[in-house]
Amino acid sequence: MSSAPAKPRCLLCGSDSLEPLDALTPPELEQLWFHMGVKLSPAAQALFNGHRHIELLRCGGCGFQFFSPVLPGNSPFYEDLQRQIRDYYPVTCPAFTRALAAARTHGLREVMDLGCGSGAFLDLAKAEGLATHGLDLNVQAVAGCRERGHEVINQTAEDFAATRPERRFPLVTSFEVMEHVPDPAAFFREAAALVAPSGYLAIAVPNNEGVHRLCSLEPHQWPPHHLTRWRATDLRRLGEQNRLEIVSLDGDELRGVQLRFYLRLQRELEHLLGRRKSPPGRLWPEAVTFVYRVLLARRYVRRGISLHALYRKPAGAP
Ligand SMILES: [Zn+2]
Repeated sequence: MSSAPAKPRCLLCGSDSLEPLDALTPPELEQLWFHMGVKLSPAAQALFNGHRHIELLRCGGCGFQFFSPVLPGNSPFYEDLQRQIRDYYPVTCPAFTRALAAARTHGLREVMDLGCGSGAFLDLAKAEGLATHGLDLNVQAVAGCRERGHEVINQTAEDFAATRPERRFPLVTSFEVMEHVPDPAAFFREAAALVAPSGYLAIAVPNNEGVHRLCSLEPHQWPPHHLTRWRATDLRRLGEQNRLEIVSLDGDELRGVQLRFYLRLQRELEHLLGRRKSPPGRLWPEAVTFVYRVLLARRYVRRGISLHALYRKPAGAP
């Protein structure tokens, strides 16, 4: 307890030039989750022990945003969310559809999904005839995936690579996982290492240049849930660092209903924390959403929930 905590450094580039953008206390985070319908159990709340506040930082070197302390969720925290949030693991999403389209286009017959969760993507991939593999740390989720015929192991990518050093896959995927891990640069490196030469890596993360930016207090976007916030630039940098070519990199489309939801929610959450004096009215979110719809902006503004990157490993790469 006597030693001072290490000075935080950027999780992508290592710079210690960091600018604070925002901070929340553990009671404020618990209050935000409660507003979202989640009561954190004492075992989940214990994550916050010894921390007076959680700070959002922006790197002066590369602009990446992350939180300090690095505070990943524990099993009780994720059990709280799965029990209290309906559809915590989605059945399908645009990222799944895109990865399957890539598999079809490039004739990829085998996939490794990192952080496969309940196996919803693997189910879709298997239905298309792909051989399905996955890694996940949730023991129950792994058991469920195996029952449905997927080869899923309760391991990290690093441990898997250590036990199966020669194993490579023509398609490696990871959907909405990288924002949860304490060392995303290492996670990406391990994912890239599992890709076969001329193979593909599909990554999806929440888009911090999208609608989430309008709702920065939403507790899913804070530790112990998300530990980092992502832009297209950050995904491009990771590709370059790991010598992967970018095949495609863009955001989801943003629906009017999502825009209205997040605009309203941010105002409610600001009011809840006393950052906004007046109760949140409905007029402004309604007006913005109306204009967005009239302009048919959904067709050309790719500022929705997620950011998708498809990378290709060069033929001669290890
Ligand atoms: Zn940086």
